[in-house]
Amino acid sequence: MPATIVSKFGGSSVADAVQIDKVRAIVERNPGRRNIVVSAPGKDDVHREKITDHLFNIATGGDHFRDARKMITTDQSREAVIGKFQKVMADLGVEDASLLQDLKKDLDRGEKIRDVRKKTAFYASRGERYNAILISRYFTAKGMRARACLPEEFGFILGGDPADAKVQIESHENIRRIQDVAFINILPGFYGVTSEGEVAVLSRGGSDLTAGEVAYAIQAERYENWTDRDGVFEADPRLIPDCQVIPRLTFKEIRLLSSTGFNVFHFDAMISCKKSQIPINIRNTNRPEEKGTVILNERVPEEGIVGIAMLDNMAYVYLEKDLLGETIGFTAQLLQIFQEYNINTYFYPTDKDDIAVLVNQEDLVGRINNLRREIEKRLKPDYMNVIYNQAVITPVGLGLKGDSFTLMKAISILGEHKIPIEMIDQSPSQICFHIGLQQAVAEEAVKILHSNLLKRK
Ligand code: ASP
Repeated sequence: MPATIVSKFGGSSVADAVQIDKVRAIVERNPGRRNIVVSAPGKDDVHREKITDHLFNIATGGDHFRDARKMITTDQSREAVIGKFQKVMADLGVEDASLLQDLKKDLDRGEKIRDVRKKTAFYASRGERYNAILISRYFTAKGMRARACLPEEFGFILGGDPADAKVQIESHENIRRIQDVAFINILPGFYGVTSEGEVAVLSRGGSDLTAGEVAYAIQAERYENWTDRDGVFEADPRLIPDCQVIPRLTFKEIRLLSSTGFNVFHFDAMISCKKSQIPINIRNTNRPEEKGTVILNERVPEEGIVGIAMLDNMAYVYLEKDLLGETIGFTAQLLQIFQEYNINTYFYPTDKDDIAVLVNQEDLVGRINNLRREIEKRLKPDYMNVIYNQAVITPVGLGLKGDSFTLMKAISILGEHKIPIEMIDQSPSQICFHIGLQQAVAEEAVKILHSNLLKRK
């Protein structure tokens, strides 16, 4: 029995005929790749928008792009969707008039759905649906035994809001039932059906989730997530062009690294894999010879720091009040106010008479005056201030546990370069620490830390 591998190919990996042929070659190379989850076509050189975005645009009568200040009408979106499939089919030499006819019929049929959320889900799902059919046709034409496995046929059951649904447990048994050693299954990601048989979609980027559920259901040996990046980088490669791919990371480490430049993966998709200890391998469809990054439950750390994350556009609300440290429930009440304003709080370093709460500064837009008033009224601070344009740099690595020298070295190197530090906070897990500083010096600080603490020989 060959290995059971679940391979998910994202939008850029299936954006046109050239990319789809790369997918074919990858699938053919390993007989263990028998469950292939595909996204809708992503952007290419001609089409500057993803097919899913065009479909959202049709569903919302043009609001989707209008809100993003892009002037693309529903008619243009419709043409883009049909034109895309037509072109890919022609380029791949797939002749299937019914595929295009069904797609056009669906684009008309969606108009009749009254419920806005159901209509959105129906349209949004069409990109994945027809791409899976198209890819299975192409594989078959190339002599592979492949078949499209559609959620409405095998029962990928979702529940809740149709436009932001959640996977239901019975889906797992249904996924197991379609396993057949004779066939390569091509599954569309992102969508499923409700128990009433109506189309529903997961959250954006949800094909990662579909593949995670497939991997969990069949207890796959590995979940491959094929993207257009070589894996997870040590830092944001836009900032440090020569930074390298991290070969192995634990689930815990990748969570801590999640920030600017690290958002390669839908985190909810990891949960099921983590539970079953299924490794996730992030790889590049355009460079399949690269091994990418493997995310596992455990690893033996060979080094201190594996990566440096950076959160920018942060602000902190700073409060002083005598005896705050001894006032039971003060922090809880303060955080409660942020919760009432639906603002996520990232860190809250505190002391005897003062506390700072770090948030994303965009979350304060339009709310800061009311928030301040509420804090004044309920907590009566002696002094309050909001400091904007902050950043938090987070070096991460399992090897940091029990090693305080790296932290000390990081601080002293920043000192040598005259980078002022606003905050230092070690995570309770001890596998990362946070350095708060002004945004203006943050990029330079990441470069300094990377070249002094991380550069592999
Ligand atoms: N096509 C969907 C999206 O763009 C889902 C996915 O690609 O994972 O969000």
